[in-house]
Amino acid sequence: MIYEDTILDCYTDEPAGLGVPPYLGVHPRYLAGHLKGKVNYLTIDDLRNYFEPKKEGQKTDIKRYNLTRKSIQDVLEKTKTIYCVVGIQTPGKYLSALPGTIKELTSFLDNIHANKILYGPVVSTGTQLQGGRIAEKIPGDLFDGRMGEVFGDYSELASLAVKGASITKQIPWPKMIEIETGRGCIMGKCSFCTEPLKSKVEWREQKDIHNEIKALYDSGERNFRLGKQSCFFSYKGINTNEIEKLLKPIGRESKLKLNCLHIDNIIPSLVDEDRTKLLVKHCTEGNIAAFGVESFDTEVIKQNTLNTSPEIAMKAVRIINKFGAKRGPNGMHYLLPGLNLVLGLKGESKKTGEVNYEYLKKMLDEKLLLRRINIRQVTPLPGTAMWDTGTKFIRKNKSKYWKWRNKIRKEIDYPMLQELIPIGTVLKNVWMEVHDGNHTFGRQMGSYPLIVGVKDRIETKKHYDLEITGHMLRSVVGRVV
Ligand code: SF4
Repeated sequence: MIYEDTILDCYTDEPAGLGVPPYLGVHPRYLAGHLKGKVNYLTIDDLRNYFEPKKEGQKTDIKRYNLTRKSIQDVLEKTKTIYCVVGIQTPGKYLSALPGTIKELTSFLDNIHANKILYGPVVSTGTQLQGGRIAEKIPGDLFDGRMGEVFGDYSELASLAVKGASITKQIPWPKMIEIETGRGCIMGKCSFCTEPLKSKVEWREQKDIHNEIKALYDSGERNFRLGKQSCFFSYKGINTNEIEKLLKPIGRESKLKLNCLHIDNIIPSLVDEDRTKLLVKHCTEGNIAAFGVESFDTEVIKQNTLNTSPEIAMKAVRIINKFGAKRGPNGMHYLLPGLNLVLGLKGESKKTGEVNYEYLKKMLDEKLLLRRINIRQVTPLPGTAMWDTGTKFIRKNKSKYWKWRNKIRKEIDYPMLQELIPIGTVLKNVWMEVHDGNHTFGRQMGSYPLIVGVKDRIETKKHYDLEITGHMLRSVVGRVV
């Protein structure tokens, strides 16, 4: 069945919410619900492959990897309105996808004869795929209209979210489904963040979340991340009982047999023993509590009104390690912290790199485990306190960034990874995704899964059990068992 409306997913990555394959974000699903499920789903990869077909090579072409169907010609011919879902605000590196940019859309949309609507996070707070740059300019005549959210409050979302589940049937690869638990932020002051600008604090009811997951489960989905919120532990007023009521009916003890139930985003000051134990008990292994520490430099923390102090972050890492650092059946630990650091914030100086390193070294020396340390350059977006500062500190300090990063990668990440996944560990159900020459790379389904490389060109788009045989700076090497 081909419909007159088409969603073109250019993928989204926000402070709270990921929609880059294999993640399926909330925005295309909610829009599909608004259009009563009568909509075609295409990706930017489909469009690239149609207008500039892929050439076979030794390296997987990640710009044309996530194809929903063999040909999109009939869909484009019948489409009367195309909704372009766009919004990269916390750009990262993606193993098997590359988000679409406004510049790229400009080159394709001229050839599509349909009403063109811009939709998603881009509408309120812009988009930029390159860290350290300001938001992309949007040509005034590129789109015929712009659409913000398709719902007002969460009572309106309840039925849309269930109806939107149907588009997953048009997406042929195994997906991680991003689920929203709330919006806005109870801290709400970090200088670079768009989340407080987009929404006031509001939480979804447990029954609405469960109904949405059930609809997706009935469509065949088994991997979920409760990731679309600024902080999972803030739920309904930082209420531990309410968090348990959310997790229990979908967790490991429930009737739903999920392959993956993970979370994202926790404000470190809200980590306590009870809430940590709930995640260990109800979620599946490989789960990561990602902390936006952003900086350990107290001057940067002050000038950017960041949400945590270095001591609080240390304490949170210790608690999560105490309860979460035990290995589960798929070879990964039940729950580990992940740290986010941001470069280019106000007040950054030569000292910032040194202080960040010192605290990470302290964690390593205490034998604490971090599943990952994410270091990115700030993207100043309109409306944030960083917008006026722009790239001033990036320009000032950029020459030091490689050295700062490299020291952390070599002296922290590498030894920590050896502790985390010792040689001989077997990681189960690794989905192999891309080739690079005679090597193949893949990962388990999860929140920030570890990348495993095999020194052989094995068939992709298949699951394997891999025994770990070596370590790279941020990934591991394995062989098929
Ligand atoms: S704690 Fe800061 S970075 Fe995190 S969502 Fe709130 S304002 Fe944004």
